Amino acid sequence: MPYQVKPLPFTKELTGISKKTLDIHHCKLYTGYVNKSNEIEDKVKKADKGAANASYSEIGELKRQQSFALNGVYLHEAYFNVLGGDGKPTGPLVERIKKDFGSYEEWEADFRAAGMAARGWVVLAFDVNDGSLHNYSCDVHNHGGIWGAMPIVVLDVYEHAYFIDFGSDRKSYIEAFMKNLNWEAANKAFHNVICKLGKT
Ligand code: FE
Repeated sequence: MPYQVKPLPFTKELTGISKKTLDIHHCKLYTGYVNKSNEIEDKVKKADKGAANASYSEIGELKRQQSFALNGVYLHEAYFNVLGGDGKPTGPLVERIKKDFGSYEEWEADFRAAGMAARGWVVLAFDVNDGSLHNYSCDVHNHGGIWGAMPIVVLDVYEHAYFIDFGSDRKSYIEAFMKNLNWEAANKAFHNVICKLGKT
């Protein structure tokens, strides 16, 4: 089944992050990843598997670019999923954050610092390997992700996410992201991950 473009899960205007930025981000960039994922999936089916080669082969390039495009889809969906809220941390996820990070404040300081340090993404993830929450980051969609870490709260720190609204002031963009964080959606994402894994 082809990958589908998911609509933005909120309609309200965000604090600091403009409609123009969101339109470009969702309608052009994210949609582009969905379309490319479908194109690659289609081409993989038709590629000559017998010519596979690690230096260069059509199937090799398709598989490499699939990890880029599809992670671009999933990471953006997780990012848009947690926007549109009031930024007030509450619910079972926050309780779990306190348990796994020592306090909410420690988690937030680490998350913000990761956001200033990364070149691509920061992900609050539930890592199935040790059964706890971690803030992970990566510089490119398909370089640096941790296998088995399920994204819950995702922050996009590529320049396209904030340059129109904040210029090079990434700190203010992260501040705006935290103000717009939808903890209800984040709690739902955490619940879904735990249910899928059958863990408590
Ligand atoms: Fe992005």
